[in-house]
Parts: sequence; C-alpha cells; structure tokens
Amino acid sequence: MTVARVLIDSPLPQLDRLFDYTIPAELAADAVPGVRVRVPLRTAGRVVDGYLVELGEAEPSERPLSELDSVVSPVPVLRRSLYILARRAADRAAGGAGDILRLAIPKRMVRAEKAWLAAPAAETPRVSADALRWVDDTLASYPGLTQGISSGARLALDAPPHPSADRVLGAWAELLGAVALRTLAAGRSALIVVPDQRDQDQVLAALAGRAPEGAVIRDDARRSGPERYSSFLRLLSSVPAIVIGNRSTVYAPAHDVGCVMLWDDGDPLLAEPLSPGVHARDAALVRQELEGSALVFAGHTRTTDVERLVQLGWVRDLSAQRRESPTVVLSATHEGESRGARVPSAAFAAAREALRHGPVLVQVARPGYAPVLVCADCRTPARCASCTGPLRAKRPGATPDCGWCGRAEPVWTCLNCRSTKLRMASSGSERTAEELGRAFPGIRVVLADGGHPLAEVDGRAALVIATRGAEPHAAGGYHAVILLDGDRMLMAEQLRIGESCLRWWSDAAALAAPGAPVHLVGVSGPVARALATWTQPAYARAELADREPLSMPPTVRVAAVEGASATVTATVEGLRTAVPQLGPAAVLGPVPLEEGGVRALVRFDYAHGAAVAEHLRAAVVADALRARRSTRDRGPRTTLRVRLDVPELDL
Ligand SMILES: [Zn+2]
Ligand SMILES: [Zn+2]
Repeated sequence: MTVARVLIDSPLPQLDRLFDYTIPAELAADAVPGVRVRVPLRTAGRVVDGYLVELGEAEPSERPLSELDSVVSPVPVLRRSLYILARRAADRAAGGAGDILRLAIPKRMVRAEKAWLAAPAAETPRVSADALRWVDDTLASYPGLTQGISSGARLALDAPPHPSADRVLGAWAELLGAVALRTLAAGRSALIVVPDQRDQDQVLAALAGRAPEGAVIRDDARRSGPERYSSFLRLLSSVPAIVIGNRSTVYAPAHDVGCVMLWDDGDPLLAEPLSPGVHARDAALVRQELEGSALVFAGHTRTTDVERLVQLGWVRDLSAQRRESPTVVLSATHEGESRGARVPSAAFAAAREALRHGPVLVQVARPGYAPVLVCADCRTPARCASCTGPLRAKRPGATPDCGWCGRAEPVWTCLNCRSTKLRMASSGSERTAEELGRAFPGIRVVLADGGHPLAEVDGRAALVIATRGAEPHAAGGYHAVILLDGDRMLMAEQLRIGESCLRWWSDAAALAAPGAPVHLVGVSGPVARALATWTQPAYARAELADREPLSMPPTVRVAAVEGASATVTATVEGLRTAVPQLGPAAVLGPVPLEEGGVRALVRFDYAHGAAVAEHLRAAVVADALRARRSTRDRGPRTTLRVRLDVPELDL
C-alpha cells in the first residue's frame, strides 16, 4: 500500500518528522510529492497544514493510519532538494525543518497561483552579446574566477574597493552581477544573498539593462504577498534565473543553481534571528555541498569564519590580478592642537582640499545630537532616575531624556556629587553636522543615518555625515573619507568587535574615489594597521590564532542552552555522557538570565557537531513532550531552548 509521508507545518519540536497517511482513491491523482496537504493530527484532534514530502510503502504499525484530508493545491511547492536542504540545515542547528521551510516558501496566494497556472511558461533567458562582452571585461581582472564558477569552486573574493567608473555603484555590485550573468549564460541559476535592500538595489542597478528581461528576480520584503508568491512560482519552473535578496534567498528553489554568492557575510543581518537561527553563510555551505554549485563569499573585508575555511583549504582565496587598495592615513591629534579637537589638522586639511572638488564622507558612531550626557562637575555619566538608562540631548538646550524609556528629565541631580549641571560628552551625527557646518561655512551639509536614510549623493561638494553602515554612495566616489569615533566603536565588549570595526571602516573606505585619502582618526593597533595596509584576511588570520587557544568561535562552535535550571543542568550533563569527547572546559555556566531561567554555553569541535546537535534536539523534543503532559496541572513553565552558533558573544 502506498502512503503519503507528510511534514506537518508546526513549530512544535515533537512534530518535526514525517508522518504516514493513507491516500483515499479520490486524492490519488493530486497527491504527488511537494504539494500542500491538510491532514488530521490525532494528538491535537484537528486538521492541520503540511507538505507531502514523498510517497512510500506503508510500514507495519500497531495503529491504523489516518487518511489525507485534502490536497490544498496541485502545485508541488516543496521541491525534494529544498526539503533535503531544510532538513540538513535544521539538523545541523538542532532545529526544525518546518521552521526553515517557513522562511523559504511564501504564503500561498490563491489568485496569484491561478494566474500563474494559466500563464504560458517563462522563456529561457538569452544573455545578449553586448552583455557578455561586459561580463568578460568585468571578470578579466580576476584570473581564475570564470573557470572557478563553471567548475563549482568555493571562493573567498576580495571585492574591488572602489565605486564603479560610470554609475553611482560599488564596483563589487558589478562584479557579482557579472558572475550571475556568466552563470545564466551557461543555462544555470545564480543566487546573490545580500544583507539589506541598499545592497540589493546596488546589484539590481548593476544588472539593469544588461540582464535579459524577466531573468532577474527580486526576493524581498518590500513586495506584496502575491508578488512574492508569483516570483516563487516562477522559480519552480525549469527556467534559470538570477535571484537577489536577503538572508532567506539562500533557500530559493531556483532551477539548477550554478552559483551562490554571499555579500559581506560579517553583516549581522545575515544571521537569521528566527529559530533555528541558521546563518546564511552556514546554509550556503550546506547547500553547496548538496548541490555542487560554485560558492562565492565576497566582501571588502574577511570574516574569521570564512578565513577559517580558507585555512582548512575548503574555500580558495581569489584576489584581483592587480591589487587595489584605498589610500588610508592614520590620523591622530598632535601636540599643540586642542585635545578636544575631533578632527585632527591633517584630516581637516584633507577635507578642505577635497571639498574643492566634490563630496566628503564623515563617518560617526551614533545618530542623534548628544547621545551621552555627563555631570559637568565630576564627569559621571548621567542616568535616568526611573530606569538607569543613559540620558541624551536631542537639541542644544533641550530637556534631557532617557535613551531607554524616553522619559524627560527636566531636573537632574548627580548621584555622585549632587551637582545639577549637565554637559554633552559626545557628538551624534546631528551635532557633528552642526559643528562641521560651522567649520566649513558655505558648504552643503548632508545627514545620513537611521532617521535620515539616504541611498546616494551627487558629485557636487558636500559634507556627508553618516552613521556606520548608513553611508550613501557618491557619484564618482568621495574625494575624502574621514572616519571619526573609531576608538569609541572599538570599546564595545564583544568578541567580534575588531572584525566589525574593520568591516565598517573598510566598507566606508571603499566608497572613496580611487586615490582619495581615507583618514582613520585616533585609532592605532592591529585593526587600524589592517585597514591602512588593506590586509583584512591577515587580520582575520591573526584573530583566529588568538582565539584558538581560548576555544573561542569560530575556532569552535558554541551552543546556548536555556531554560529552567534543573532542565539545563540535566541536558548539559546528558550531553557530556553522550559526547565524551567534550573536554572538561566545554561547558560555561549555567548563569541566571534576567528574564528568568538560566543559560549554559557549550563549546564543541566541528567534528562533534552532528552528535551535539542530535543530543540537544532530542532533549528539546523530550522537554516538549513532558510539557504537554504537565501543562494541565502546573500552568506555564520555562521550556528548553537551544541555539547553535550564537552569532556574537558579549565579553
Ligand atoms: Zn557629578
Ligand atoms: Zn529611563
């Protein structure tokens, strides 16, 4: 007897496996692998949604099987390859396959589906001869790249660190666009995974007028549900496409994927916050192993994660034939200058000279006016009386308010010295704009931060004050770039802060026109040297060497295990028994969490990843089953939560 094996669409860990259902005769024709179905769920006493994953022979069972209730739609939305990818990625992260499919398969839209079923099949895209010439020109500066793409290589690519010559674009976007077109011309699909919409727009602009009509698919949250679902259905056809989108694009079920590209994999936006929290980089690696496509990690900097793979020989380093690097100057305030001067004289002179020709970029750490206020007498940071959040000023002379709870604090008294006078201790983007506007009278000042998003500026002279990551592109590139607040940025107590700073600064430096000066103000040490010599992979290598003896990621993997104290302790002890290779120092904690319960961190080798993930997953399933039995009499309880590969550790 043939049965339908169904994955139920549910976040409950105990349902994360295939369930067998018999197929009633009237559904036999429609019940094909990949379709959405509805099935009765005995334990819940109701009918639920699921995917028919495969057909198989019934296995002997004590209880009679239930019947499929219905086939929701004839479209097989769950490809076999996507199911396997979701299963592997979930298993690696001790999570549920259904959680990953929810990121990968958009909600069904009935009208969009009907329109798609009625429409003629998409035509196979043809890349024009003109476009192919441009592709060859663009890829020529990277010897071995074309060959690597066609042979399914895994590459770490140092992107060209400058704007494109004739458009308001990063040259990196053209490089990735060219790789995608080369793949498409070979009859295969390409995926370009980028952190955010600004990056997505860059790649779209690079492909505009070059990619064949209908071949480029935008995969992003700006589109309506029906639009998203239509593009998803388009991908299910056997016509290759170029898909550009955010972290979940790594799961796009495009036809015959020849190349997966990740841009700037150190950007935290590529870490999936939803369970099971699989980073796009890890999902791409799993996918590459399953499908044998080419895989490209490209950026202006190198994460320790990718550098680790380079060291292992799993990913190959590929740089441009002629190495290019921005002209970086490490600027410090010299004796004789006022110590409070934010912009040292050398950087100031560079900005003045550059403003005669075009725009100048000034990067700052924080938005707002004065994000930090201190006591004017003893310099103790001013805190909110009701929640201890930092006090800030929105305008000069404005009533201070709290950065956490927003409460205004018209009367403030220093807890340290009883003074009532406040003083501004830092400059956000708005105050910097005001200060520099005074220093350069007659120059246009442009602000770009979270509250004032701006994608691009023209080539006329202007001072562009931007928070890190919000820098607009400038036509032809900036004539000078000044990086302020670097010392403050480096102070954050996070494991990856050095890497992050190098990424923020390198990305900003790549916005400078070739030859234009980039001043990093007030920072020395290894991160500053790596920027000045444009040797980001060497910095990542040194970081790995430092972290290795300390067993810090990514030289090891880290799992966070959270829940009630007794459960966490039992889970961690059980793990030690199940995976005896874990050393005595493998477990950190448990420590109490503010929101209740405790957290333990478990460090483990990549080689033990499968065993650790399997054990932790089994513990989560067991806990969920216990919870089902006990909720009736005990009310709410803390469930066991597990997350592997925590993206950042606070030190
Ligand atoms: Zn004081
Ligand atoms: Zn407050």
